[in-house]
Amino acid sequence: SSPVSDSLRQTLEADGVKYAMAGYVDIHGCIKGKFVPLKHLGNMLGGSELYTGAALDGVPQDISDNEVSAVPDPASVMQCPWQPELAWFASNLHLDGAPFEACSRNILRRQLDNAAKMGYTFNLGIETEFFLFRDNGDGTFGPISDRDAGEKPCYDPRTLIDNLPIMDELVSAMNTLGWDVYSFDHEDANGQFETDFTYADALTMADRLTFFRLMAVEIARKHGAFASFMPKPFANRTGSGAHYNMSLADIDTGRNLFAPDGDDLHDCGISKLAYHFTAGVLRHARAISAVIAPTVNSYKRLVRQGSMSGSTWAPVFVCYGNNNRTNMIRVPGAGSRIECRAADISCNPYLGAALILAAGLEGVREQLDPGAPRRENMYRYSDEQIAEMGVQFLPRTLGEAVEAFEADPLAREVFGDAMFKAFVDFKQAEWESYHSAVSDWEIKRYLKMF
Ligand code: GLU
Ligand code: MG
Ligand code: MG
Repeated sequence: SSPVSDSLRQTLEADGVKYAMAGYVDIHGCIKGKFVPLKHLGNMLGGSELYTGAALDGVPQDISDNEVSAVPDPASVMQCPWQPELAWFASNLHLDGAPFEACSRNILRRQLDNAAKMGYTFNLGIETEFFLFRDNGDGTFGPISDRDAGEKPCYDPRTLIDNLPIMDELVSAMNTLGWDVYSFDHEDANGQFETDFTYADALTMADRLTFFRLMAVEIARKHGAFASFMPKPFANRTGSGAHYNMSLADIDTGRNLFAPDGDDLHDCGISKLAYHFTAGVLRHARAISAVIAPTVNSYKRLVRQGSMSGSTWAPVFVCYGNNNRTNMIRVPGAGSRIECRAADISCNPYLGAALILAAGLEGVREQLDPGAPRRENMYRYSDEQIAEMGVQFLPRTLGEAVEAFEADPLAREVFGDAMFKAFVDFKQAEWESYHSAVSDWEIKRYLKMF
């Protein structure tokens, strides 16, 4: 133990913590880890917790490989508000004494280092859309509130009030952790909610998003409900996005470098640097999709229709524009940031932020121009019109997205060879498994058709 760990142990002890968790994530960005009695905190901070990588989805290790060790980041510590005897630490994985190349958090840190070398901090705010459901016990599920069955559920205070016991505990927990929630609401699908909180540096935000999901699951469970981060549980309602609101700041002064600087290339109210960054993200959009929309179900969200309210608010094409929710990248009216709307709430935020940042930095280095913004409702165009306009489609299935990911050298560079291969193999298998299943839809349509 060191003076730092001694004083941290005393603080945690005084706050009622009994166990610390050296947490890390699998390929899905789901938290894993062991609980360590506080007495051993010093060892834990020194990397005493060893894990068999092969036990987790998508951690490229064989059972015969050496174990990885989790080296907790003391700055990331969060006492679990719903379970105060437990404190969680985000960790960086090491293998044989060196950073493990295929650790999601290390993958993001490598890109943050690249940004730092160019003089930038990468700031990120992720909006969390998700569902709160009750389990009916007969294989069905639905919104908690009986009143939550309407066709225009968006912003309904009555159904938000019905869910307030859970939402209040969740939002209070977020604020206890210092995340600064500035609003929360009922979103546009039955049982769907959103919490919005202040942006942070991307590493902090990725830690928070992974912890948020765990926290929401546990708090909902205390109330006899469950939280779901499935991107699109209802075919006829909007899905759950996880919009990435992004900007680069000066690493020394913290000044937002996406703020208008008098060189407004396309009249969207952002700096030239922000246009370059946008162009880089658009260039790699199809590969990025595999990471920020990483499930079979993700692609049922990225469609024009499917909501009673008339639209899904989710992007279908690789384009950007001003305050326009049909673009993949929206430039909100004020705020000096860009918003990537293709990301959904099932993403691994470390991997998503890493690949988007790498793409954006490429755009900056090559001073790319994203071309003219799209200010109109893109949903109105037919596929033919879109093709004529020279606008690319986002992948329409996970299979297509993984193909694009595999074909993009930047993806390999960012993930590193082992994780690149693990991701492609895992996601291809996921797609194949889905594709080879025969669905109810097919039976209904074809069984007696011919
Ligand atoms: N739920 C929409 C999505 O899937 C976003 C709605 C909004 O703009 O907040 O991205
Ligand atoms: Mg929303
Ligand atoms: Mg948004």
